[in-house]
Amino acid sequence: MSTTPAVPGAPLPGAPLLDVRDLRVEYRSRGRRTVAAVRSVDLQVAPGEVVALVGESGSGKSSAVRGIMQLIRPAGGEVRFDGQDLTTMGRKELRRARRDMQMVFQDPFSSLDPAMTVAEIIAEPLMVHTDQDRKHRRASVVEMLELVGLRREHADRYPHEFSGGQRQRIAIARALVLRPRLVIADEAVSALDVSSQNQVLQLLQSLIAELGIACLFITHDLAVVRSIADRVAVMYLGRLVEQQPTEELFSSPQHPYTQALLSAALVADPRVQRTRRRMRLEGELPDPSNPPAGCVFSTRCPAAIDVCHVEMPELLPLADGGRVACHLVETVAAAPGLAVR
Ligand code: SF4
Repeated sequence: MSTTPAVPGAPLPGAPLLDVRDLRVEYRSRGRRTVAAVRSVDLQVAPGEVVALVGESGSGKSSAVRGIMQLIRPAGGEVRFDGQDLTTMGRKELRRARRDMQMVFQDPFSSLDPAMTVAEIIAEPLMVHTDQDRKHRRASVVEMLELVGLRREHADRYPHEFSGGQRQRIAIARALVLRPRLVIADEAVSALDVSSQNQVLQLLQSLIAELGIACLFITHDLAVVRSIADRVAVMYLGRLVEQQPTEELFSSPQHPYTQALLSAALVADPRVQRTRRRMRLEGELPDPSNPPAGCVFSTRCPAAIDVCHVEMPELLPLADGGRVACHLVETVAAAPGLAVR
């Protein structure tokens, strides 16, 4: 098979839609010290695939999203979307690229402009990115409202007239109105009660499947990703520590941190819950400006041995797929140029 794209610069067939390599995101603290929130993250999302990025608050997952979307310029690495590196793009090019990459944010109470009607909110991306006239925009708004389970008469109301779950439906309608190729959902159901959470999750899941949209789903709650994600990447203190297909991760978590997260998560299947060894996650996430030497998890890991405190384990492939960064887990050496999935 030829590995040369038909159009120069176009992505190779089978290439990931989103391809993040060695992403680093830094902030300046008040004392003007540099704090590395994301240290060398590799992450790929294939067209139509749902990848969950999971970690505690402070693990760097939201900073990773900001770096991917170029809301903050990364300190290093590449973020390729459809083969094009976003980190080298100017404002105009980025604006064009963002048409195909839409976001759903955590807080439906602050992410919707209270002064705009629902129709104006959903139509806004169409105004920015298309030349649709008013009549067509209205038709698109009504179509989206019905797709997300709201009614056409909701179009002329304001966000405060809706519940949290309904507001998140409006946010999803806005994110999908342009039929993007990738949606990044950043803690999109975390602010909702459990019943709205399930409904919004099911809606998002069915819409992305129906429209063939890829999704990067960011959450601190491992329990919610089982039904939605094809693959799960676990992040701790700015690094990926494990990545596996969802079922493998739930049935055979390799990294002690993933095992602790799973142990703490509520699992619907009581047989799984009974057989799961409870593992308490002791202590706090270390200060990202002062990470531990060696493995980032060494200060909280019940399995840590001497080498863990001096040598950082690499994220290496597992024999039957996935990757893990732990000195105690048997991995296979990465072949040069290995597709990282
Ligand atoms: Fe624990 Fe050591 Fe593995 Fe890190 S490398 S997760 S400290 S056993």
